[in-house]
Amino acid sequence: MVIQTMWKDRLSLADLKGEAGKVLLRRIKILETIGCGLLRFAVPAPEDAEAIGELAYRVSLPICADIHFDYKIALRCLDFPIAKLRINPGNIGNRRRVEKVVSKAAARNIPIRIGVNAGSLPGHLQEKMNKGLNRAEAMVLAAQEELALFEELKFVNTTLSMKASGITDTIRANRLFRTVSDIPLHIGVTEAGPLVSGTVRNTAVLLPLLSEGIGDTLRVSLSDTMENEIIAGREILNAARDMVSIPERFSINRFEDRFGNGVLLISCPRCGRACFDTINFVERWKTRLYSLDKNCTIAVMGCAVNGPGEAKDADLGVTGAGNSIMIFKQGKVIKTIRVKNDVEIDRYFEEELKKL
Ligand code: SF4
Repeated sequence: MVIQTMWKDRLSLADLKGEAGKVLLRRIKILETIGCGLLRFAVPAPEDAEAIGELAYRVSLPICADIHFDYKIALRCLDFPIAKLRINPGNIGNRRRVEKVVSKAAARNIPIRIGVNAGSLPGHLQEKMNKGLNRAEAMVLAAQEELALFEELKFVNTTLSMKASGITDTIRANRLFRTVSDIPLHIGVTEAGPLVSGTVRNTAVLLPLLSEGIGDTLRVSLSDTMENEIIAGREILNAARDMVSIPERFSINRFEDRFGNGVLLISCPRCGRACFDTINFVERWKTRLYSLDKNCTIAVMGCAVNGPGEAKDADLGVTGAGNSIMIFKQGKVIKTIRVKNDVEIDRYFEEELKKL
């Protein structure tokens, strides 16, 4: 199972130069360490293909080029070491153009993801929907029509996504498609919304699909940061693992090889008893904790009333306690420190984190 996210801005060659370039590469490294397995970039113009291509040489994280309308951009992207191409054959032009892209992708052994979106179904299927065909069935028919050409061209290195902004449409379409094809599926909800509502809606779709063994890659699309998309994806995967006896395919995936279940972050919501700002602490440490390449439980609690006791299974915990903070492991307090500021708290926590 590969978790994906998509770069939120347009990338130019200038972005890769100097200090800005170093910052960008560092951010991509962080995405990789917190669990991103594929990073998609929109490639709206020919010059963007040059930037994506250059980037693909410089990073270890697999890059996916996402192209609409202009088949020549797709052809140019295929000159570089990208890991995947995402196109919508319906808007890439006539059959000859699709053939050119497919034939070059085959020669370079680069997979193509075909995207079917509920909002842009072909006219003839919209007409059928007006006469009673449901949206999920229409999406599957659209997918089969797109795939027919690829099959005719004997291109088998294909993945498919069928996304809608509706929960039931997305679940139904993916379930239905799985009954007619075993092509790898990329799953998620499109235009899901901001952090909270988007995560809830993606969870509602992804949990049932994952627990049925449907889905080979996923993205939690959010109007929020890429880091939060990855973290949300990991948490949903962990929840799916907890909910079901793990389907065989989960146990051989790349994500699990690297992270297992990864970090389980427990943090209290904070209330009037808090003597430590858990919300701020979690925000400061979130990316670092999700970068840990080990299975462990970290607890961040606001007060000693419920702190070490409620989080007694944590491998490492921090809690407020009056004017002090306590660091604890497996329910046992190992340090009580009077601290004055966040820098000190972070320093003590860091010392213990390194020992894990
Ligand atoms: S751990 Fe303490 S501060 Fe946090 S919610 Fe519970 S009682 Fe409130």
